[in-house]
Amino acid sequence: MERERKSLTGESLSGSRYFEYRLNTALKTALETHFVARILLSPPHVTDLDRQALLEAFDSNWIAPTGPAVAGFEADITARTGVADAAALSSGTAGLHLALLVAGVARGDEVIVPTATFVATANAVTYTGATPRFVDSESASWNLDPDLLGEDLAAQARRGRLPAAVISVDLYGHCADYDRIEAACAEFEVPLIVDAAEALGATYRGRPAGSMGFAGVFSFNGNKILTTSGGGMLVSNDAAIVERVRFLSTQAREPELHYEHREIGFNYRMSNLLGALGRSQLDQLDDRIGARQIVEQRYRDQLADIAGVGFLPRPDYGTPNHWLTVITIDADAYGLSSDELIAKLDADDIEARPAWKPMHQQPVFAGLPCRGGAVADEIFATGVCLPSGSALTERDQQRVIATIRSHHG
Ligand SMILES: *Cc1c(COP(=O)(O)O)cnc(C)c1O
Repeated sequence: MERERKSLTGESLSGSRYFEYRLNTALKTALETHFVARILLSPPHVTDLDRQALLEAFDSNWIAPTGPAVAGFEADITARTGVADAAALSSGTAGLHLALLVAGVARGDEVIVPTATFVATANAVTYTGATPRFVDSESASWNLDPDLLGEDLAAQARRGRLPAAVISVDLYGHCADYDRIEAACAEFEVPLIVDAAEALGATYRGRPAGSMGFAGVFSFNGNKILTTSGGGMLVSNDAAIVERVRFLSTQAREPELHYEHREIGFNYRMSNLLGALGRSQLDQLDDRIGARQIVEQRYRDQLADIAGVGFLPRPDYGTPNHWLTVITIDADAYGLSSDELIAKLDADDIEARPAWKPMHQQPVFAGLPCRGGAVADEIFATGVCLPSGSALTERDQQRVIATIRSHHG
């Protein structure tokens, strides 16, 4: 009779599966001992809890199209962010697209977008047939400058061409200044959509990121603070908006048995397997924020004395989720430019990236209006995103710090 064999996690394995397991474990140990593994910017952090949650959903046969884990994940996000309701979607980009559609954005409209953002924010605007109007960031937060926003809205109001919506972005896990942004949007009665893709778990004056405005959007892409491999969530304080988004995300299917459709919909719903993964990931959000905070604080403590190294600003009106630590490099004082530092880190098998390249510098958006832009240009020219994963070990982080210190001067 075959002897029962178990993996380290207690799973019983037999025959060739056990052999395969032993081989993989031996290879992994050998690799860890003899090679330096590349340190990544923000790799997915998944645990046995996630694995179990995923397999339970799998075993329940709720594979598709939707199921109880999707509704459960929506309820969990609703509770966590204090909104009225949430709709689980296939991506954050899908959430932005549907938020814009439900806000009434249509072909020929304009939508204000911060120029300092990831391209998804601006891409979603173009999906509706509208075009982005870019606005610079303020240096105090690197996020949408509320004064420039007010100026742009006033100028467009005078021309009788108010934008159909404003999207603000909570860059690198820090909230924008919502009291001032909301005031500007309210004055001109333009709906505000919050791209909180990078900021789940952050707060602004005690309010959860994403809970402001017409609707907020989160992303669970592979490098975000939580991941479902790919996925997103739209939240709103108006349950009717969320209900409408859910309807549009499932091909705008009318509640009839016979597949009745009166408008164009989308296939943007989250799958039940990923909903299960999302619930398990969300349970660990506070741990993830805590781990990234320690990483950021260690960088701040151990790089503070280096001439020419600065940090992304931490406005005192809120708490970030510490998604990515971004440093700024003053090339003259530090002795290398940000690009040169990124190349040095790469040579030491460390993944670092420039801060987002502004939308007004992107060839695909050439010729679109941009109010200001110097702050976003500066962020791009000097910003370096450092490895900030919640599973980053202190040993690996010390390797990153040593490389930055060794090339100083
Ligand atoms: C990641 C990201 C998105 C897009 O989210 P996906 O889930 O990848 O579609 C949108 N906006 C910002 C600012 C992001 O960082």
